[in-house]
Amino acid sequence: MAGLACATWLHRAGRQVLVLEAADAVGGRVRTDLTPEGFRLDRGFQVLLTEYPEARRIFDYGALDLKAFKSGAVIRLADGRETTLQNPLQRPLAAFSALASPIGTLTDKLRILSLVRHVAKYSPDELLARPATDTLTFLRRYGWSETMIDSFFRPFFGGVFLDRSLGTASNFFEFVFQQFVRGAAVVPARGMQQLPEQLAARLPAGTVRLNTRVARVEGQIVQLENGETLTAAAVVLAVDGSVPAALLPGRALPENGAIAGARRTTCTYFATPAGSPAPGHRNGLLRLNAHPTQLAHNVVFPAEVAPAYAPAGRQLISVSTHGEHGLTEADLTRRLREELLAWFGPQVLAWEHLRTYPIVNALPEYAAGQPVQLPLRLADNLYRCGDWSSYPSLNAALATGRQVAEELLNC
Ligand SMILES: Cc1cc2nc3c(=O)[nH]c(=O)nc-3n(C[C@H](O)[C@H](O)[C@H](O)COP(=O)(O)OP(=O)(O)OC[C@H]3O[C@@H](n4cnc5c(N)ncnc54)[C@H](O)[C@@H]3O)c2cc1C
Repeated sequence: MAGLACATWLHRAGRQVLVLEAADAVGGRVRTDLTPEGFRLDRGFQVLLTEYPEARRIFDYGALDLKAFKSGAVIRLADGRETTLQNPLQRPLAAFSALASPIGTLTDKLRILSLVRHVAKYSPDELLARPATDTLTFLRRYGWSETMIDSFFRPFFGGVFLDRSLGTASNFFEFVFQQFVRGAAVVPARGMQQLPEQLAARLPAGTVRLNTRVARVEGQIVQLENGETLTAAAVVLAVDGSVPAALLPGRALPENGAIAGARRTTCTYFATPAGSPAPGHRNGLLRLNAHPTQLAHNVVFPAEVAPAYAPAGRQLISVSTHGEHGLTEADLTRRLREELLAWFGPQVLAWEHLRTYPIVNALPEYAAGQPVQLPLRLADNLYRCGDWSSYPSLNAALATGRQVAEELLNC
């Protein structure tokens, strides 16, 4: 996304760009596989928040035919009870009081209102620039009860951060909270990969070279793994994680060790057999698990909101497990089925296991004290962009891509 954003802005300004992509399609961590039966499997459950300033700048939302999840969630509490929260961040009093919700005290609900008002005072960039602690400490200092934290914040924002410990920096929490309050969580009708595809489609033919892995970069010379050598006026590394260092042997990067580790997640897809009743209640809500030790952290029925995610008459079930679970695919699938049996009943036994995606470097860790952005200019005519040089979000990938393009245009 960062590389495509950079290429988009450069192309719009009339510059010639070449995008070298190692994989067989654009998108990086935003990919969707279409199965022979017609299921669209995003490689990991992921949504676009419509209020992301950078997304609004660059995407044509209308053409993406965005499908919104309802604001809210069905939360399965640690004791097995379920509670439904509609619009918990937009209408906290109504949401948490609904059906005498067992989540949180009245004070907890009022505190959500207070946080809604607090984040409304700032722009997204101002929130990201705020002094930070870890999110758990921030929530405790704000005064929320442990019950509220464990049954709402941990499953909801732990799912966003892929970090149930809530160790992620609080400035990023405040930013994400604001984005959820202001906008919707959506997927393009035909899968998340439509986002990078839209950007790639606007570039002139031949701009993106797929299946083209860069082996190293020396000055303005780019050496491809296939032996080919290219020369460019400027080179932008829009790669993930520790890849920049591998491409620049012998060069110290200016982050002073600021890049931390990665958050991992595993996405397991199931499908209902043809003709069986739909397992969801067609309510388009995320299901979150507040149980501290179970493996199913959230369950989503993408075709409830975006019908093209599943062929007619079948339902797709996406189950996310965050962190290291140490299980084989077969054991994880069996354990998830056992857990989901308690959620949805014996129909789970008939669900077909479609595919499992373990995603090791899903998100960069982003801890309190980490800079909102590392230097994007590495040397003369050499730049980097992507969430790994900023904070873990599509917004950061798109923003850093644009910023590098602007720096290049100002050269
Ligand atoms: C499961 C999951 C859920 C997520 N959920 C959300 C969410 O709900 N909301 C949100 O905002 N963000 C979410 N994210 C984060 C978001 O997807 C990323 O922040 C964003 O896609 C990062 O884009 P990027 O361009 O920085 O990096 P990447 O997508 O990692 O792109 C790097 C690219 O570089 C290519 N590459 C690497 N090495 C080479 C080489 N040597 N030569 C050529 N090409 C190379 C890779 O193939 C890849 O295409 C999620 C991520 C995952 C994995």
